[in-house]
Formats: sequence, C-alpha cells, structure tokens
Amino acid sequence: MAVQAVDGKGNPTPYLLMALMLISIGTLFLSGCIDLGESGKVDVIITIEPQREMVERIGGDLVSVNVMVPTGQSPHSYSPLPSQLLDVAVADVYFMVGSGVEFEINHLSTLREQNDDMVVVDCSEGVEILEFGEHHDGEEEGGEADHDHGTEDSHIWLSPGNYRTMAGNVYLVLIEMDPDNEGTYSENYKAYVEELDALITELESMFEPHDGREFLTYHPGWGYFGDDLNLTQMTIEEEGKKPGPQGLAALIDQAREHNITVVYVEPQFDISSAEVIAESIGGEVIEIDPLAPNYIENIRDVAVKIKGGFGS
Ligand SMILES: [Zn+2]
Repeated sequence: MAVQAVDGKGNPTPYLLMALMLISIGTLFLSGCIDLGESGKVDVIITIEPQREMVERIGGDLVSVNVMVPTGQSPHSYSPLPSQLLDVAVADVYFMVGSGVEFEINHLSTLREQNDDMVVVDCSEGVEILEFGEHHDGEEEGGEADHDHGTEDSHIWLSPGNYRTMAGNVYLVLIEMDPDNEGTYSENYKAYVEELDALITELESMFEPHDGREFLTYHPGWGYFGDDLNLTQMTIEEEGKKPGPQGLAALIDQAREHNITVVYVEPQFDISSAEVIAESIGGEVIEIDPLAPNYIENIRDVAVKIKGGFGS
C-alpha cells in the first residue's frame, strides 16, 4: 500500500492543494449558521463507512450522510462516480479522515470543484499520525520483512482512541454549523463518547494478558489498533505488493517463531498469499474488516477474533 503524498511523477501538488483547502477546526468561523437547503438537514460527505457511525450518532435526524468509497472498494484506489459528484454538489460539509487516505489526496480538488461553499474538515486534527515503522514494534526480524519506513500510515480510525478524537472534531463543527440544535448534538455526543470509552476500557482488559503479542494481517491497517493495546502488527503486504516466494518463506518462519496460528485478511484484498501462509503453519484464515460501517460493533468483533488467535 502506498500512502504517499507524491504521485508517480514526484508531483507533490495534491498535498499542497489539500493544505490550502482545509479549514482548521480551531479557527472554523462561519458567519451565522448555514442554509440547510432542500433537505432541511446538514448534508454530510464522508470518505469511508467507518466514519458514518460517529456522524449519525452525533447528528441523529439532523444530518444526512453520503459516503464516497462504497462497501467493497478500497480508499487506497477508488475514484468517485459522476453520480457521487452530484451528491457533493449539494453537500454542506465534507468530513475528511485527513490522515493521507489516497482517495482524499487524489480527489479532493475534483470534489471541491463541484461545490465552492462546502466546508471541508480535517477530522485527524489532534491525532498523531505515525509512519509505518513508528508503530509499537516487536523485535525486528532482519531485512527481509522490514516495515515500510518513511511512509505515513493513514488508518488512524482503527484506534478507538483516535476515533474518539475524530468524533470530537465532528461534534465541534456540527454545533458551529447548526447552533440552533447545539443541545441535541451535545446530548448525542456525550452518549456516544461514553460508549466509545466503554469500548476502550473493554479492549484494554481483554488484551492485558496478551501484552506484547504479535498478530499477522494481510493489509497493514491495524498498526494504530495494535498501539492502543500494546500488540504488534505483522503484515504480509509490503508497500501495497504481495510478497514473492522469498518474502513468503520469511513470513512463514516469523509466524512460526511467534506462535501465530491465524492469518487475518481484509475483504477488500486478494487473500491467496494469506492462504499459503496459513496452510504452511497449520493455521487458519480469518476475515477482519477495516471499513465496516458499524464501528463499535465491528471493532469489538475484530478484537474478539484477534484475542482468539492468542489461544485463550
Ligand atoms: Zn488500508
């Protein structure tokens, strides 16, 4: 996976454009409230399905949400359809993930062209974005399986702590855009954050007995999740590429060394190399989804599956 701000020709303009267009949440100022248009609701664009829950729980009936990257597609490669640009044309606000997701880097200027008035919000404000090599690491295993040093990891939403920060940003923007309904947003936000905090506490106690363990996934999406719980993500995919025969052999050795019995795969990717590894270690392939819409339920499901791989 190439989470890069620079395209194949070394052209850095998408990032620059993004920086110029973003509204900093700290300085968001709107002259009065927005005109809620035909729908009578705040029309929201999000990039990926996991953002839906925070927006719909905080906004309730006051918001209408449109997702850009549909289920089954990857935010690392998807391009918007013409029909989606029509949704953007009538949107009030675009809640970007903001951490360098390729869809946003590649297509923000196109989305902006549809709608000058749309407020564009970087929901990653306040989240520490790490490079792949900066995540909590177990012992490195020689050169063969090196991490993608120097590349930013855009999968911030898979840490419930980061997700809580992103939800706080959504809340601040909604009360600014629609101050008449601040009471409703506040109540909804408080209730949702309580659920997120309960999830965080639950996960911490689930993984306390497994401090420092490694888990093996196909796509490197779970680094922030691992950081929260003091687990180390090992990945099959390196820089968006399937491993060759030597890489596979090295991974199989590492998996054996770390007593790994499960290879986790993401539904958006080809899993053939995961199956080869699982077969070699006498383990199984289990699916975990980084892009599921029901965030809390999905993260809890992923946690149960990863804990299950540790044997108790
Ligand atoms: Zn990803």
